[in-house]
Amino acid sequence: MQNTTIKVALIGNPNVGKTSVFNHLTGLNQQVGNYPGITVEKKQGIAKLNNEVKAKIIDLPGTYSLNASSIDENVVIELLLNKKDEDFPDVAVVVTEVENLKRNLLLFTQIKDLEIPTILVINMADRMALKGIELDIPVLEAALKTKIALISSRKKTGIEDLKNLILNYQELSTEPCLHASSIDPEYFNNLRRAFPNQLLYKLWLVITQDVNFLNLERNEIKSSFTKSHSDLKRLQQKETIKRYQFINDTLKIGQKIDHTKATDIRAKIDRILTHKIFGYVIFFSILMLIFQFLFDWSSIPMDFIDESFANLSSFAKAKLPAGEFTNLISEGLIPGIGGIVIFIPQIAFLFLFISVLEESGYMSRVVFLMDKIMRRFGLSGKSVVPLISGTACAIPAIMGARNIENWKERLITILVTPFTTCSARLPVYAILISLIIPEKRVLGFLSLQGLTLMTLYLIGFGMAVFSAYLLNKILKLNCKSYFVVEMPSYKIPMFKNVSLNVLEKTKSFVFGAGKIILALSVILWFLGSHGPSDSFDKADTIVNQENPSYGKEELEDAINAYKLENSYIGIAGKLIEPTIRPLGYDWKIGIAVVSSFAAREVFVGTLATIYSVGSHSEEEDTIKNKMAAEVHPITGEKIFNFATGISLLLFYAFAMQCISTLAIVKKETNSWKWPIIQLVFMSGLAYTISLIAYQVLK
Ligand code: GDP
Repeated sequence: MQNTTIKVALIGNPNVGKTSVFNHLTGLNQQVGNYPGITVEKKQGIAKLNNEVKAKIIDLPGTYSLNASSIDENVVIELLLNKKDEDFPDVAVVVTEVENLKRNLLLFTQIKDLEIPTILVINMADRMALKGIELDIPVLEAALKTKIALISSRKKTGIEDLKNLILNYQELSTEPCLHASSIDPEYFNNLRRAFPNQLLYKLWLVITQDVNFLNLERNEIKSSFTKSHSDLKRLQQKETIKRYQFINDTLKIGQKIDHTKATDIRAKIDRILTHKIFGYVIFFSILMLIFQFLFDWSSIPMDFIDESFANLSSFAKAKLPAGEFTNLISEGLIPGIGGIVIFIPQIAFLFLFISVLEESGYMSRVVFLMDKIMRRFGLSGKSVVPLISGTACAIPAIMGARNIENWKERLITILVTPFTTCSARLPVYAILISLIIPEKRVLGFLSLQGLTLMTLYLIGFGMAVFSAYLLNKILKLNCKSYFVVEMPSYKIPMFKNVSLNVLEKTKSFVFGAGKIILALSVILWFLGSHGPSDSFDKADTIVNQENPSYGKEELEDAINAYKLENSYIGIAGKLIEPTIRPLGYDWKIGIAVVSSFAAREVFVGTLATIYSVGSHSEEEDTIKNKMAAEVHPITGEKIFNFATGISLLLFYAFAMQCISTLAIVKKETNSWKWPIIQLVFMSGLAYTISLIAYQVLK
């Protein structure tokens, strides 16, 4: 055997430690992608079994049974039923865990019926002593007609045994461990006679599942064996009962549990963590902590990254020969890459927290706690984390929605998260509020400006929840939800799992959404620093002639302003003036709105350039004063009056002004459809609301 690769499918219920086993087998040799056309993550990796033989391990999504009720489960069924699939396994490894063998074995018995060589992994062996569990492995192996690897991914025991079993997979029995067809012998005999070349259990799955492979065959099979839908359902139930009976009988002889050892500490902790009051207090305290990290502490590395890229950019500009190529590098590419790297600290922090919460078993309690409330709006209990962390930034938050198993709930969470007020909106809000809201206090102590800011946060959150509610009504997606909330036991998070998860999420952001962000930033840079007409190229001379009295710095500011005005973005800003005039904006605001499509905070910087306020003066005060002094050339009215200010605040509250968010939504939903819908919907909504606000207030 030289350089052979054995194909292995890793299958199992959620929470049995499948990922941990996968991580041990493959280490850093992992690749994460998507199944074509759908959003289910496809994880695969290479395990070295010995010097000659490798195994390609496909980590299939966690599934409870082969009865397809979600896209995740469909993925498993479609692979296992389709021998022509390039990933069709030579051997299936079903991972179970020692405390939940009874439930976990259901899936195992189904896989066995497919007559694929199957290894049974019983994980979490380290918990056996604690829980008073004893297993008679030879007895279980005989009854289940398989080979068993008893392992502990935590203590790293048994992994070598598993590798050896995989290596010798050809010795495994492919015989089913029970005869499910005895639930209706006549029906199954007929089936067998009609399709003698097909595997019986496969036929049964094709009949009972909505699997869309082998379309022709399926219709043929279905039409020749008419049984009503309810009859089929009844048979399926009978099948499940039969399987559980078999599992019970098997465990009776192969497993001993000393119930006196099972402690009720877990129940006590559960009672506190899911308590009607303390549960929420604890959860919101944890959220505050996450928040603190995302907002405050990640700002240290973020500022460092920001500064480094700015320095790198000036360095490149100074050292490289002046010209278009240097501009592309120093003003387009370097800031573009900086715009990707800057998100890494927040993504890493958020996933560090999320994986610790998941790994420890606490996330399931959160779901239990929050599900009832969130479900009313079509969200999942787990949506709370993305929605709240969206206050720092929508990018990590949207990636955080990956933990939501149900696709519809996950999609809704992704679509509404950008409504929550992210930190990039703060500079925009800050300057507009300081312009139009007086520094008064109400009730003696509440600052009116502070209240306005809080209202904007609430409006954002309210809109997120409201659109979730609407989307839940509108979206017709066939995703059944699990009604069971699993309560796995509490565990200390495994370092390997957490670190690989953080690494993988960061990588997938940088190489997935990062590419799109870079491309879009370079395009926006080009449009902002190039213009169609002569006046752009001759900006220096024109401004010089018009303002002979200007000093060096003033002149530089004026040239920058002139260039921006005559750039493609500037022209676009002017071009849209008729459409934004009803919102109370002039062309200068138009330019700021267009250029802040890259990221909202750019709004302030663009206005600073247009009003030729350089960084050498006291920036904020000067922009603010200039904005306050700006009047309409004909009517003489103030541009930044109350109505325009409110209209702008609302515009930035609702509009999808962030290419990075669009890029991450594209990455996460695996299609351009959703980011485009999001863009159109959010911008349309922002326009309408700002229009109404301005027209009412002016
Ligand atoms: P998956 O959902 O099946 O992929 O499971 P994970 O690999 O994410 O593991 C679920 C939980 O079980 C995590 O908290 C792991 O730290 C924990 N876990 C995994 N393997 C073991 C083990 O062998 N022993 C113990 N005690 N815990 C484990």
